[in-house]
Amino acid sequence: MQLPGGLDDLYAEIILDHYRHPRNRGLLSEPDLQAEGYNPFCGDQVKLTMGLDEAGRVARVGFEGQGCSISQASASMLTDLVKGKSLDEAVGMVGAFKGVMQGAKFTPQQEDEFGELTVLEGVRQFPVRVKCALLAWTTLQDAIAEHRKAHRR
Ligand code: ZN
Repeated sequence: MQLPGGLDDLYAEIILDHYRHPRNRGLLSEPDLQAEGYNPFCGDQVKLTMGLDEAGRVARVGFEGQGCSISQASASMLTDLVKGKSLDEAVGMVGAFKGVMQGAKFTPQQEDEFGELTVLEGVRQFPVRVKCALLAWTTLQDAIAEHRKAHRR
């Protein structure tokens, strides 16, 4: 199952639940945003698609991917978290999660916002797996950057 030993059992359970039962699996047929990410260190892949409502918030989201449990669980959690968010808010979440994976602490407000994804903080003690946890988030960042480039007026 490729889970690093030493992760707390509860953490492992949440990660494995998302890995075995990914949320929002399947790509959207007409996405407003899309991107693909690849983590060569582990072989993880994530494809992310999103659709926006008139207010510019993420209304629909779907992903496909393969790879280790941490990469796929992180992608599954991301798809739940990003729904209803504006692109600015989503970019803010990417920055916050990257910061935590680089050593920052979740603020209490971020803990509420990120919910069960906060268990991935435990991955930090395995530096080689940090890229696994971040893959879906850098893919989200790429999708938003591409979208903004295409829609710049
Ligand atoms: Zn991985």
